[in-house]
Amino acid sequence: MKPASGPGVEAPGTYIDERRLPYPFCPGCGHGRILDALNAALVRTRRDPRRVVIVTDIGCVGLSDQYFLTNGLHGLHGRSVTYATGIKLADPDLTVIVLMGDGGCGIGANHLVHAARRNVGIAVLVFNNFNFGMTGGQQSPLTPPGSVTSSTPAGNPEFPMDVCATVAVNGAAFAARTSAFDPALSDLIYEAITTDGFALVDIWELCTAYFVPNNRFSRQALEQALKQTGLPAGAVARRTRTEYTRALRDQAPSPGGAPIRAIEPRYKSALAGPRSIILAGAAGQKVRSAASVLGRAAVMSGLYATQRDDYPVTVMTGHSISEVIVSPQPIGYTGIPAPDVLVVLAREGVPRARRLACGMGPEGRLYVERSLVPQFSAGTKARVHVLSTERLGKRSTGLAAVALIAEQERLVPVEALEEAARDGHRGVEEEMVRAIAARKLLVQ
Ligand code: SF4
Repeated sequence: MKPASGPGVEAPGTYIDERRLPYPFCPGCGHGRILDALNAALVRTRRDPRRVVIVTDIGCVGLSDQYFLTNGLHGLHGRSVTYATGIKLADPDLTVIVLMGDGGCGIGANHLVHAARRNVGIAVLVFNNFNFGMTGGQQSPLTPPGSVTSSTPAGNPEFPMDVCATVAVNGAAFAARTSAFDPALSDLIYEAITTDGFALVDIWELCTAYFVPNNRFSRQALEQALKQTGLPAGAVARRTRTEYTRALRDQAPSPGGAPIRAIEPRYKSALAGPRSIILAGAAGQKVRSAASVLGRAAVMSGLYATQRDDYPVTVMTGHSISEVIVSPQPIGYTGIPAPDVLVVLAREGVPRARRLACGMGPEGRLYVERSLVPQFSAGTKARVHVLSTERLGKRSTGLAAVALIAEQERLVPVEALEEAARDGHRGVEEEMVRAIAARKLLVQ
């Protein structure tokens, strides 16, 4: 973990974005108490807020990340642990905290088990108010037996999942149970977020909109229930195990076992700002390979690069679309609502490309295969360049087009493309270099 006390970084006195307060929860809801305790724990860590990621699950708890001055991610119901695992795998030095409700805890129980088993270094705080609050107070897998909810009006007939025991038996480094009223709550949260491994705190709290009125529940009832259920409170598991994401890097630096090699910048790009490029073609045109050559060449030229691909599940049929951003500055968002450059190589790519072309302005560049031009004659303000692909083999089209736009749009030097093709494509290097050389055929 990176301390906040590095050059240019002050340890903040609060991690809450106070301009956004008050919290939006119902009066008396326990969520605010837990967020305050999380804030107090974060202040103790003194961690750079830019190195902290709060991942929220769906439900009222999902409103929480926007109140923190950290990074935030809000995704699908029950999947927050999977996002957190991915973030931690990408950068094991980040502090990654998941905020989820008891409903999401049930929906994503499978993910909890496997994150605990692997000992992924994330901290999961379960905002456990015994029902799905946001959707009207339905029973969750953590609802105590006998409780009245909107889906169990005669009382919950089920036995609840013991989430602490579940993760503990599967290898969690830390598991604890407490209530939102516990004065030591922030200490337990602090221990969870500083544990070098998987940590979970099951925090019992009040949903004043549904569970409280349906069950004549109260703070006293909650504290009594915590004592009477027989479920252990406080720290339930503490163990030292190797943290997964770091161990994975140490053990297998790359899937083939070969050490990861940094791409050294050897070329120069004239780009002053980001450029977004979308290649819309067909399976077999090597669209994705061409995009990856462009990205690699960009990194070789001192740029940042991202790539996203879209293709159907079928093989060698249907569309193949790649989105690439190259930029001299770090790229914060990888989506491309309207590209700077759109290249349309085959009819399979036309439906998506036509929608994109409509959103392009006069500064946009639209490179279109000759036979497809009539489909773009209206509805775009972008400047149109015609490409002739008939003198190229299908497998060469994508890379030849990338080489052409790299040259014409001054993205990266052609030499960088050639080296990128040789570097990352064993067995087809010479075919790819020939495709780059054939770029001029596209405009003859
Ligand atoms: S519905 Fe329940 S969980 Fe949601 S904000 Fe209101 S009290 Fe809190």
